[in-house]
Amino acid sequence: MANVKVAIRVRPLNSRETVDGGRIAVQVEDKVVRVRNVKLDGRLDGRVEAPGDSRERLFEFGFDYCYWSANPEAPNYASQEEVFQDLGMCVLTGATEGYNVCLFAYGQTGSGKTYTMMGNPDSIGLTPRICQGLFRSGIDSPDGKSCRVEVSFLEIYNERVRDLLRGADQKKPAALRVREHPEKGPYVQGLTQHVVEDYKQAADLLEEGIANRITAATHVHDASSRSHAIFSIQYTQATLENNLPSEIVSKINLVDLAGSERADPNYCRDRITEGANINKSLVTLGIVISALAQNSQMCSSSQSINSMLSEGEASTVGSQSSSLSSSSRRQCFIPYRDSVLTWLLKDSLGGNSKTIMIATISPSCSSYNETLSTLRYAAHAK
Ligand code: ADP
Ligand code: MG
Repeated sequence: MANVKVAIRVRPLNSRETVDGGRIAVQVEDKVVRVRNVKLDGRLDGRVEAPGDSRERLFEFGFDYCYWSANPEAPNYASQEEVFQDLGMCVLTGATEGYNVCLFAYGQTGSGKTYTMMGNPDSIGLTPRICQGLFRSGIDSPDGKSCRVEVSFLEIYNERVRDLLRGADQKKPAALRVREHPEKGPYVQGLTQHVVEDYKQAADLLEEGIANRITAATHVHDASSRSHAIFSIQYTQATLENNLPSEIVSKINLVDLAGSERADPNYCRDRITEGANINKSLVTLGIVISALAQNSQMCSSSQSINSMLSEGEASTVGSQSSSLSSSSRRQCFIPYRDSVLTWLLKDSLGGNSKTIMIATISPSCSSYNETLSTLRYAAHAK
């Protein structure tokens, strides 16, 4: 996919991993991530001493950006602001140029998706920074009228859409339906749209939506690991076309995905008695992304979706892919409508749009399989 950028962000070791010995399996260097399956004592700057053990397995992947988090002195260290300068600015530039843009965070639960997309009060993440940037670069024009920003915030849980900004009056909102307009593309019927005039209004709505997600999570054991949150911004710029007033409309979708373990059939098999189910939207996203990547290779590459999905034990999406991969190889068919997530993201994934994926991983040896799985998924988006 020509218009895709992929970034990797390694979070710091957490306290459990540190107590367990703090062994590090991941190394980053410039635009390369390496992961090893040996139990090494890594250093906190992401470098691992070469052990010279012939039995070890070493995997190496190249990406557009690789970020390390543990200590600011490390060469690949990136703060929230630095991540914004790379990825957030891509979003803002794309939207200003009139593209639809999708930025999504992918990774196992606890790897840093929400930290990256939303952040916390001490350290705000990409979504609020992008809102800040929109008002800095666009709306603050002298008459304040040249651009218009509308936001909505929804959650997809078990293939149902829930509005996160419906207000306190609606205690039990019904699941909303996805529809498709012939020109404007897919949309959610009845989703509230909020015109925002400054950063503060956008930040308040973001906070309200996050709070609604958390409230719901007290009813369902681990809602945030199972659900996708999409903060959408419609950015409309007034312009002149042949001296006639016209509008350029860009859609920005900022997505905090469900934990990637939800796409792994092995994970789900182990927990079947707990009622866990494979996350259909996440599985379909993997299929759509790799089909788009194949399409951009003119369907001529010998590499199939199967090769992405069946490389060894850490397969991300697994068996469901095989029948779809052969059809997509033949027709380059992109099965957007197979899940709610991909349907809603249809016009900001692939085609004439910009897609940015940030894959978040733990540096710890204890997450070796999940990390490898995430890196493979990310590598095949290119
Ligand atoms: P996820 O949303 O993927 O389940 P979180 O974003 O909630 O994971 O991250 C889990 C924990 O790790 C949180 O306490 C978060 O603050 C911390 N964390 C994640 N990424 C980073 C990072 N890059 N730098 C510092 N802390 C991080
Ligand atoms: Mg989260």
